[in-house]
Amino acid sequence: MYDIKETYRAHSIEEALALLEGHPGAVLVNGGTDVMIRMKEGKLTDAVLISIMDVPEIIGISLRENGDIAIGAGTCFQDIYHNEVIRGAVPALAHAANQVGSPQIRHVATIGGNLCNGAVSADSVPILLAMNAELELAGAQGTRRVALTQFHTGPGKTVLQKGRELLTTIVIPKEEYAGRYGSYIKFGQRNAMEIATLGAAVCLKLQANKTRLEDIRIAFSVAGPTPLRCAKTEAALKGMALTGDMVKALRQGVIQEVQPRDSWRASKQLRLQLVKELGERALRQAAEEAGGTIHD
Ligand SMILES: Cc1cc2nc3c(=O)[nH]c(=O)nc-3n(C[C@H](O)[C@H](O)[C@H](O)COP(=O)(O)OP(=O)(O)OC[C@H]3O[C@@H](n4cnc5c(N)ncnc54)[C@H](O)[C@@H]3O)c2cc1C
Repeated sequence: MYDIKETYRAHSIEEALALLEGHPGAVLVNGGTDVMIRMKEGKLTDAVLISIMDVPEIIGISLRENGDIAIGAGTCFQDIYHNEVIRGAVPALAHAANQVGSPQIRHVATIGGNLCNGAVSADSVPILLAMNAELELAGAQGTRRVALTQFHTGPGKTVLQKGRELLTTIVIPKEEYAGRYGSYIKFGQRNAMEIATLGAAVCLKLQANKTRLEDIRIAFSVAGPTPLRCAKTEAALKGMALTGDMVKALRQGVIQEVQPRDSWRASKQLRLQLVKELGERALRQAAEEAGGTIHD
């Protein structure tokens, strides 16, 4: 059932990169909650696995000297959910972490695996997209930094050079979370052990008098071939007063920017409806978090 040829265990980033170089075609594995499923389904055979679950440099959450939040790619969702830095600065990410699978899954599934798997339904992605998160990728030539908005290239595809690079850190720059408030809403057919039918995230900043939007980012999962941002709607909403017109502009704008499809989980029509409803709810939640009141 699990067609494994060889397994290796790295204890540092350097060792993981050396193992990758020495074993072309090898697959990195952390929690294994995606990799094991691929093997069980026969999509990964004769597997050479390199475990990175014992690489301490990529585990844990810290505040850098400049105030940026650094989340190690090997941090599991349970630890993200309980982390004080995340709960204080980006509570919507703590909430998103708690939406993944079940308690058993959240204890082993990592945020790095969630991103590198490239799934359009990944629960950690919409709020990180809305927060303008950045990714640090380590390779033989050194480390490069990629904006999450540039990471996904197609269904299950990312700019990560598989077999040559390791995602080490997810960075939320200070200017992207300070004074901003976020919200993530997942729609599934049941409350647990459920891949998102659609997910919506909003991150916004209000003007000082809290009656107008200074800035807003809107992101969706399962609303196109990759997780996506609605840049035109974001631009249109900037500076708008917190009124029913703003909500209407969001509802009308976002459906022009998404491209959902029919699947066995939901029809395109249902997803379009969810884009409007969840988008509005995420906007209302984030505005409330920010201390604003929407006058309908
Ligand atoms: C029962 C069940 C329920 C689930 N429910 C949800 C859900 O509700 N929401 C959701 O979003 N997901 C869900 N998932 C999917 C899965 O749990 C997540 O995608 C998980 O976060 C993957 O992390 P992992 O550490 O297990 O990754 P792994 O399976 O170890 O790896 C996944 C992929 O990422 C690569 N990879 C892992 N870490 C790195 C790294 N640091 N650098 C480079 N490449 C890396 C691997 O090579 C592999 O291609 C569920 C899975 C199961 C089995």
